[in-house]
Amino acid sequence: MSNFLDRLQFLKKKTGEFSDGHGDTTNESREWENSYRQRRQHDKIVRSTHGVNCTGSCSWKIYVKNGLVTWETQQTDYPRTRPDLPNHEPRGCPRGASYSWYLYSANRLKYPKVRKPLLKLWRAARATQDPVDAWGSIVEDEAKTKSYKSKRGLGGFVRSSWEEVNEIIAAANVYTTKTYGPDRVIGFSPIPAMSMVSYAAGARYLSLIGGVCLSFYDWYCDLPPASPMVWGEQTDVPESADWYNSNYIIAWGSNIPQTRTPDAHFFTEVRYKGAKTVSITPDYAEVSKLTDEWLNPKQGTDAALGMAFGHVILKEFHLENPSEYFTNYVRQYTDFPMLVILDKHDDLAVADGSAFVSTRFLRASDLAGDLGQENNPDWKTIATDENTNELVSPTGSIGYRHEKGKWNIDQREGKSGTETKLQLSLIGDNDNATQITPVAFPHFAADTSNSAWVKVVIKKQFKFVTYPVKPLLVPTVKNT
Ligand code: SF4
Repeated sequence: MSNFLDRLQFLKKKTGEFSDGHGDTTNESREWENSYRQRRQHDKIVRSTHGVNCTGSCSWKIYVKNGLVTWETQQTDYPRTRPDLPNHEPRGCPRGASYSWYLYSANRLKYPKVRKPLLKLWRAARATQDPVDAWGSIVEDEAKTKSYKSKRGLGGFVRSSWEEVNEIIAAANVYTTKTYGPDRVIGFSPIPAMSMVSYAAGARYLSLIGGVCLSFYDWYCDLPPASPMVWGEQTDVPESADWYNSNYIIAWGSNIPQTRTPDAHFFTEVRYKGAKTVSITPDYAEVSKLTDEWLNPKQGTDAALGMAFGHVILKEFHLENPSEYFTNYVRQYTDFPMLVILDKHDDLAVADGSAFVSTRFLRASDLAGDLGQENNPDWKTIATDENTNELVSPTGSIGYRHEKGKWNIDQREGKSGTETKLQLSLIGDNDNATQITPVAFPHFAADTSNSAWVKVVIKKQFKFVTYPVKPLLVPTVKNT
C-alpha cells in the first residue's frame, strides 16, 4: 500500500497487541528508516587523517560510497608504545569527526579569489603589457598600490582562475627578484609534519630561486622561536605521551582539551599518578577544570608573569642559594654562559653620562683568527671556560650543525674536544682588566613619555672585559 493510503488509515493503524497490552503492533510503513540505513552505507573503508591545518595526524576509518565520504570513525589499531604508558587511542576530536561535512560544504573555497581592486588593476595592465611589466606598473604607482592595499581586511574578493592567479604570483615573484633580489621573496610552505608533498613543493621552489623559506613557527607564531634561533634546531619538544612521565605540569598557552584534543587524555591520566597540574589562563578555559590550581592573570600581562617567574627562579637558585641541579642545568642546556656584546650609548641619561646596552651574542667570527674556527664561525657562540679562563666555542651551537659529532650540547670545546666547564658569571673573578658597569634595559612600563630605554638604569650590573684581540666588551650578568 502506498504511504499516502497508509496515512489515511491513521486511526486504524493498530493491528494487535503484545505483552498483555503494554505494546501495540501497527501497520505503519517503516520505509523512512531506510534513509538512516542509506546514510551509513558504504562500498569500502580507507584509512586517512585530517591534513589541513592540523598536525594531530589521528588515524581515521573513512567510509566511502560511490567515491564520496559518507562518514568516519576513529581507528583503534594503534600500536602500544611502551608498557607503562597509556594507549594513544582513541585519537580524534569533534572537528575531525565532522570533517566530511567540510569536504562537501557549500562554504568550501573551490576557486581562487582575488581582491577586486587589485584584479581590476591587473586586468587593465595585462591588456597591454607582459606580466612582469604589468605587475611593475601597479606596484610602482603609489596611488594604484594604495587603492588595493587600503582595502585589505574589508573582504571584496571575486573569483579568478588558477591560470590568472598563477600568472599574478609568478609576475610578482619575478618582479621582486629582479628589483630587490631573490632573498626578498619569502614564503611559507605548509608543513613537513603533515604533508611532505605540499611542503616539499614550496620549499623546493623557494630554494631554487634563492628565496627564504619560513618555518611554521615563523608563520603561525605558535611555538617558541628562541629555541631554534639559539640552538639551530626546531624545539626539542617531547611528544604528548611524555606528559605521563611528569610530576608537575603547567598548562600555559594551550587550551589542551580544545586545541590538542587527541592528546588531552594523557594530561588527565597522569593526575591519577599524583601529578600536580596548574593552568595559566585569563579565562576559566576547559583546561582549567583539569588542574589543581588556576592562575588567571589579567589579559596581556602574561609576559610580566613569566618574567616574574624567571626573577624568582634566578634570585633563589642562582643568586642567593645556588643549587647544583639548577647550575648544572643552565650551564649545559641554556644560553646562560654565552657571552653578550655591550654597546656604549652616550645618549642614555645615567649618572656618568653614558651606559651600555646589550646587543647580540659574541661569536667566534668576532675574535682574532675566528678563535680557530674555520667552519661557520659566524654561527658559533662563545663562553668562558672556568677550568682555563679562556674563551671557548662550545659544541651544540648552530654553527656545528654540519660538523658530525658536534651537534650535541655536551660541554666540549668545539675544536679540541676538551671538556669545559662554562662560566656562568665573571663577577668575582680577580682579573684586573675587568670592570663592573650598569647596563640599560628597555622599559615599557606606564610612563611612556620618554624613549623605550629606561632613563634610570635598572640596578643590575654587568661586568665587561675588553679582550686584546678586538676591542669588544664582553659582559656576563650579575644580579644585584
Ligand atoms: S586532532 Fe581532530 S582534526 Fe586533527 S587529525 Fe585528530 S581528529 Fe583530525
